[in-house]
Amino acid sequence: MSDQDLDEIRQSVRQLCSNYTEDYWLELDRSRGYPTDFVKELTDSGFLTVLIPEEYGGSGLGVREACAVMEEVCRSGAHAGACHAQMYVMGSVLRHGSEQQKKYYLPKIAAGELRLQSFGVTEPTTGTDTTSLKTVAKRDGDSYVINGQKVWISRIEHTDLMVLLARTTPKSEVKKKTDGLSAFLIDVQAAKGNGLTIQPIESMINHHSCELFFDDLRIPADNLLGEEGKGFKVILDGMNAERILIGAECVGDGRYFIDKASAYASDRTVFDRPIGQNQGVQFPIARCYTEVEAASLMVAKAADMFDRGEACGAEANMAKMLSSEASWHAGDVCMQTFGGFAFAKEYHIERKFRETRLYQIAPISTNLILSFVGEHVLKMPRSF
Ligand SMILES: Cc1cc2nc3c(=O)[nH]c(=O)nc-3n(C[C@H](O)[C@H](O)[C@H](O)COP(=O)(O)OP(=O)(O)OC[C@H]3O[C@@H](n4cnc5c(N)ncnc54)[C@H](O)[C@@H]3O)c2cc1C
Repeated sequence: MSDQDLDEIRQSVRQLCSNYTEDYWLELDRSRGYPTDFVKELTDSGFLTVLIPEEYGGSGLGVREACAVMEEVCRSGAHAGACHAQMYVMGSVLRHGSEQQKKYYLPKIAAGELRLQSFGVTEPTTGTDTTSLKTVAKRDGDSYVINGQKVWISRIEHTDLMVLLARTTPKSEVKKKTDGLSAFLIDVQAAKGNGLTIQPIESMINHHSCELFFDDLRIPADNLLGEEGKGFKVILDGMNAERILIGAECVGDGRYFIDKASAYASDRTVFDRPIGQNQGVQFPIARCYTEVEAASLMVAKAADMFDRGEACGAEANMAKMLSSEASWHAGDVCMQTFGGFAFAKEYHIERKFRETRLYQIAPISTNLILSFVGEHVLKMPRSF
């Protein structure tokens, strides 16, 4: 796609987002509400389904275009956390689903008839150590029976489907610790109250994250995604797209903060001159601008590599780390620029400041990225 086409996508997303003002997002933040109408419009307009191939009803575009969508959503002041997962969780079905699963699910997701907004990996007692997770799925005839617990599973109350990672062979019985894990497509609506209990977590941002309890949840064996015991790869394969898209969201957040800070610094007059005339105010904003621009180049590089089908684990991780740090820094400088008014909710800065902080922790924390780069790129000793 040409730069001009990409610009057109950006313009259209901006136009759509302008129907959802910052007051709309503030009200949802206050009421802990879900932006149902925003997500519906983003889906109906085809922007949330850009990565679904045309043969399954999507637009068949690449991660580069998906990044443009997510960046613009975030730059508008919106909270993309309400819907971003559908873009990358869908990839698990596309890459690892059977032809039957793809034909059944993808057109429905593309048409907005089914929502695939959740993925269940994290557990309370094992955290980042994914291969130690304790949720088990046991084969029983034509079914799997699932028992265990997950935590921080976002949007589960606003989805029809979830991709779940569970152990099908005990860790002690597999050669490689990544073996023996399996991925499943869970029909959340059918599971609720029939072995799945959902408990919302009161948290710092309006991310709709919940704790999940599985108590003999029985699902059809056909809901296995990919091969039994090879589910770690199903999840891992989706991670590069996830990291790149989150990177693009952080670039959008960073640009939002810089737009706000530079406009306010030019306008706010103290000591009879705009505060932005003082280099102590102007330079930090200019520094953040350079950091966000640099991060956006890494996001673009990773997206292009992904779309060319090249291995891009290092670039995807670095893009996510650099952009999450750049957006957080820009948020901090924006807070400082607004002074006391930054704390007033009606200025929206504090909400975005809280929201963008997440991305140094989820979906993967900065230390884990540094560990990946240290071990896999720089070939230093493995630390865990
Ligand atoms: C709002 C929110 C939404 C989320 N949504 C989802 C979701 O939809 N689905 C899902 O599956 N998960 C979700 N998560 C979970 C998220 O992916 C995890 O919180 C994240 O991966 C970190 O895991 P943890 O919280 O268990 O931290 P821990 O693993 O306990 O780590 C805590 C800290 O220790 C550091 N650390 C741990 N081990 C090492 C090491 N060996 N070396 C150096 N540092 C280390 C980490 O970097 C981190 O800073 C969400 C989390 C939040 C907060």
